[in-house]
Amino acid sequence: NSPTAELQRADAAHHMHPFTHGQGLNDRGARVITRAEGCWLNDSEGNRILDAMAGLWCVNIGYGRRELAQAAARQMEELPYYNTFFQTTHVPAINLAARIAELAPGDLNHVFFASSGSEANDTNLRLVRTYWAEKGQPERQWVISRWNAYHGSSVGSGSLGGMKGMHTQGGMPIPGIAHIDQPDWWSEGGDMTPEDFGRARAKQLEDKILELGPENVAAFIAEPVQGAGGVIVAPDTYWPEVQKIVDKYGILLIADEVICGFGRTGRWFGSETVGIRPDIMTIAKGLSSGYQPIGGSVLSDEVASVISGTEFNHGYTYSGHPVACAVALENLRILDEEGVVDRVASDTGPYLKERFESLTDHPLVGEAKIVGMMGSLALTPDKASRAAFASEAGTVGYITRERCFANNLIMRHVGDRMIISPPLVISREEIDVLIERAWQSLDEAHEELKA
Ligand code: PLP
Repeated sequence: NSPTAELQRADAAHHMHPFTHGQGLNDRGARVITRAEGCWLNDSEGNRILDAMAGLWCVNIGYGRRELAQAAARQMEELPYYNTFFQTTHVPAINLAARIAELAPGDLNHVFFASSGSEANDTNLRLVRTYWAEKGQPERQWVISRWNAYHGSSVGSGSLGGMKGMHTQGGMPIPGIAHIDQPDWWSEGGDMTPEDFGRARAKQLEDKILELGPENVAAFIAEPVQGAGGVIVAPDTYWPEVQKIVDKYGILLIADEVICGFGRTGRWFGSETVGIRPDIMTIAKGLSSGYQPIGGSVLSDEVASVISGTEFNHGYTYSGHPVACAVALENLRILDEEGVVDRVASDTGPYLKERFESLTDHPLVGEAKIVGMMGSLALTPDKASRAAFASEAGTVGYITRERCFANNLIMRHVGDRMIISPPLVISREEIDVLIERAWQSLDEAHEELKA
């Protein structure tokens, strides 16, 4: 037996995989990833795989940066752990919070740390309700979110999300969360122009606020570009309307920047790319490029001052973990000093966009949408009518994903959309490999569908 088969047997026997446990592994075992460098993964069978997903949308800086390992080692030797409860603090948390405040737009100057996006969104849920209670409006409890959004897997953040499959398990959603539709013109726009559709979907927010009563609504949460829902890029008319509506009713806007943050959209934050002014941002993933688990909520001066005026009974043992903070700081230093975000905006990003959009020449691909370095292909049997496949939704996406996998390219499928979110350091040559392998995999899927 090969070591890989042994590993796969033990994996299947003892290791429960998030989301895919019991399905999706078919007769092949899980692929055992052993090393990684830049945009490339090695597996236990000696394959080199191009990771067009940056892990789970997080390894913005690419794999194998020694500086980050060294920052972790130094911090572990000096102060491996201390908490930030009860009026103690430490240098890595101070420096990281200050650096995030510098980078964040507007007056988002205050960071409440967590270890993940899920935890940070749980923080947000409690935080916005506490904010309104402190302002003397405790009835403002409702948080509005969007169907098909992903905001995490904890009970709070999973309820905030709009993944219907998650809402059928384990007592979710919790009360006080309402959902409106996503601005997905390709699948849901019907005969409308994208512009009219964008306005109509924004109008749903106002309708929902009026239905619940504006005096009962605390916040609206959304990703600037919806990632795990399928890289749903809203029509240009959507966000300006949303900003007007939250302003009109004085509702807090939470931008979930867990994927969009730290350069993914070609600016430091997706809020800047789509032109919104959030009161709170959720951050995680690219903050440390995934080298350490860390996330947080970034609060405006006004929200922070209200929360600081009360006892906010909330926090995590690992809030502001010194090793995670030290690694995140080093990650932000490199992203900045190497001009990674600027390159996404002005060089490799536009190149990727041009190459990615050329995939619409493939017979299976209807729409290609890409912002910075997050993109999706809508697969369709008929481009003109934007039709869905007759097969169960996601079947063709799954087949294509498997073909990519066999061709040593990691792409993800969300239903019948194919997703990319590569490390931000991907080169032009690597972009060419990505597109070639994607095209080949689409061809093979196309052939398989005809057979
Ligand atoms: N928010 C968004 C937009 C995400 O994409 C994710 C994870 O994919 C989360 C929150 C949850 O983050 P985590 O998995 O770190 O808990």
